[in-house]
Amino acid sequence: MPKNLDLTLQKPIPSCCICTKPVNYGSKYCPTCAYINYRMKIRRFPNKTRNAIWDFIKKYGYICYYTKTPLELKEIESPWYLEFDHWIPCDNSKVVITSRLINQTFHPLRHPKNDQPVASSAGTRFFQLIPNIVLTAMIHGIVF
Ligand SMILES: [Zn+2]
Repeated sequence: MPKNLDLTLQKPIPSCCICTKPVNYGSKYCPTCAYINYRMKIRRFPNKTRNAIWDFIKKYGYICYYTKTPLELKEIESPWYLEFDHWIPCDNSKVVITSRLINQTFHPLRHPKNDQPVASSAGTRFFQLIPNIVLTAMIHGIVF
């Protein structure tokens, strides 16, 4: 090894384009984001939808779109496990990340049977109106 090796010339480890953690070798994503990217790919989300989800994650991290609760990314049995929520069932054009619990519990609230835009859905208004602490208590079964 040369004596005068300038270590500052070594390439820095590239960071994830989403969360800035160190990347997998040969990937632009860290292991966590690579897995989320894989999950979006197998669901065939269009680029526009994937970019919107990435923009949300870049801005806020892996938190629930509705409750802002941190999401579980590995433990698949967890009620906080990250799930993709379609605003309109089977429509990949608008998808947000939420927890399994929220996705399953409040599904009927967010998806009216008509074809109205879901931007003004009852579920979204519901989550905007009630404080997170009340919602968290409800999820844990605490009765007031
Ligand atoms: Zn990452």
